[in-house]
Amino acid sequence: MAPQMERQRIPEPAADGDILREQLEYLIAHAAGTERCGCAECQRYLRVRSVLLEIFAAPPRASVREIAPRLAIAA
Ligand SMILES: [Zn+2]
Repeated sequence: MAPQMERQRIPEPAADGDILREQLEYLIAHAAGTERCGCAECQRYLRVRSVLLEIFAAPPRASVREIAPRLAIAA
């Protein structure tokens, strides 16, 4: 697929960012206000949180396991 077609599928990156920020603020506010009531919004918050913080929390072994197969292919 051509790179130009990839770009056309995402018409407004700025608007996308606004939506992401809005959703994040909403989920943070929900999680802060309800002490994790366990509803679907709380589940979303926990998923987003773990994804956004994985760079800080991921053990080094996990990234080695991901990279190792690629190194084997390259070698
Ligand atoms: Zn909740």
